[in-house]
Amino acid sequence: MNAQADPGAANKIKRSPRVAVIGAGMSGILTAIKLKEAGIADFTVYEKAGALGGTWRDNTYPGLCCDVPSHMYRYSFEPNAEWSHRFSPGAEIRAYFDGVAKKYDVERRLRFNTEITRARRRDGNWHLECGDETIDVVDIIISAAGVLHHPVYPDIEGLDDFAGEVFHSARWDHDVPLENRRIGIIGTGSTAVQITADLVDKVSHLSLFQRTAQWIFPQENPAFSEQEKDVFRNVPGAMDDLLASMTRLFADTFGEAVIGDEEQMARIEETCRANLDDNVHDAELKARLTPDYKAACKRLIVSDSFYEAIQKPNAELITDPIARVEAGGVRTTDGRLHEMDVLVLATGFDGHSFMRPMDLTGNDGRELQDEWAEATPAHRSVSLPGFPNFFMLVGPNSPIGNFSLIDISEKQLAYIMQLIDLWRRGGADEISAKQDAMEAFNGTLKAAMKGTVWVTGCQSWYLDKNGNPAMWPFSYDKFCNDMSTPNLDEYDLVS
Ligand code: NAP
Repeated sequence: MNAQADPGAANKIKRSPRVAVIGAGMSGILTAIKLKEAGIADFTVYEKAGALGGTWRDNTYPGLCCDVPSHMYRYSFEPNAEWSHRFSPGAEIRAYFDGVAKKYDVERRLRFNTEITRARRRDGNWHLECGDETIDVVDIIISAAGVLHHPVYPDIEGLDDFAGEVFHSARWDHDVPLENRRIGIIGTGSTAVQITADLVDKVSHLSLFQRTAQWIFPQENPAFSEQEKDVFRNVPGAMDDLLASMTRLFADTFGEAVIGDEEQMARIEETCRANLDDNVHDAELKARLTPDYKAACKRLIVSDSFYEAIQKPNAELITDPIARVEAGGVRTTDGRLHEMDVLVLATGFDGHSFMRPMDLTGNDGRELQDEWAEATPAHRSVSLPGFPNFFMLVGPNSPIGNFSLIDISEKQLAYIMQLIDLWRRGGADEISAKQDAMEAFNGTLKAAMKGTVWVTGCQSWYLDKNGNPAMWPFSYDKFCNDMSTPNLDEYDLVS
């Protein structure tokens, strides 16, 4: 930390804050563990739903799997020798978070079914409201609300007229039978691709409605053998070494490709193109599956079974645009009615809400809804000018599409904990980013974004309503470096 700007100087902890954490997903559980570890005992994790797990609680669709390797998608301090596959199924990841919360004894800190609808800065504290009731007054808020938790429902005429069952992929209705029934899926993102590959052999007919073709990177997903697991269980450091090597590989290849390394990108695109060439031989189908934009402009899809699935006799790729939904199914603009019993909306999420719709009122009546009316500026993804002692994990411009999100969250939290330590040592009562520091930071982001793949001409959930990607346009090493120590010159410190 910038020593000359460290007014506390004395390194002793003088006081302990009351902290509210918002969200009990991957980042919220992490925060609870790290607060405890730091000796901060007075905190509550508020969770709007009735269970922990965030995205892994909400998504239970058939075929759900993480496309980040298992040994990379875990807390650094909690390796897991028991992952069943190279890429873990969703239920296993959910069980992992449940197990970690239990092991670190943070479950009793979680308050479920409590949505924080508003937080107001008053008399030097944050007042948290749930509906009409003020339920807590705290010194510090850490928002761990996640990114992809607001499903987007498509604006398609007649959706309510459908006579069968219809639901969003993140609200899967497990009471609806699928075996031997006709299923329609709208969308061809990571979710739809996984559902298609899993369901095609179970249903009588599968209609996949594609608006835009996707690049698909092939990756096998073998089970770990008992011998491999024995190495993970018994060889000290084996899993940490694996994590370190995969993180480095990911950062140097994919992480560089998306921010402008043309050579790395050419390799990725070549691999995707060969995947299509090797697996789809029908020229007409291949043409319809061939994207007209750069690989990884949208989130790159990882699958070694989608092309095989969509070519099965009971599967159909439909590329005529959807005209409307009717009682019997989906009618496309060529006039054809695609009849079905169940319609799945794999139409993605709003990735730009963050902790909203929660209202946030900072100092001098500053309202988050005004600050974020057009875009979502934040300082280094974690702090907002005028909103002291309010910190975010996986906030705007976090590297959400580049690396393992758990690693990102851990690094951001370590940075935030240094600011909280400053508060604990009496170095400042109020800590928030300086307006000009945030503007300068956002200026560098904007300039760097021009060299990234996300702005090369595709539509994706990475882009906000003005077409700006809410992404990290720099390297992994720069992210690690930037998050290592806060520069206090960038912060308003009020005592
Ligand atoms: P998505 O990538 O946003 O895909 C949504 C799909 O729905 C797109 O194909 C989109 O078409 C289509 N769509 C949306 N509105 C439509 C409409 N009105 N008519 C027709 N088609 C419409 O959503 P997702 O597949 O749920 O994935 C979201 C993100 O979740 C991923 O990018 C990834 O970060 C994460 N995820 C990760 C995993 C994993 O394995 N880790 C698995 C699933 C999801 P267009 O392309 O034309 O817009």
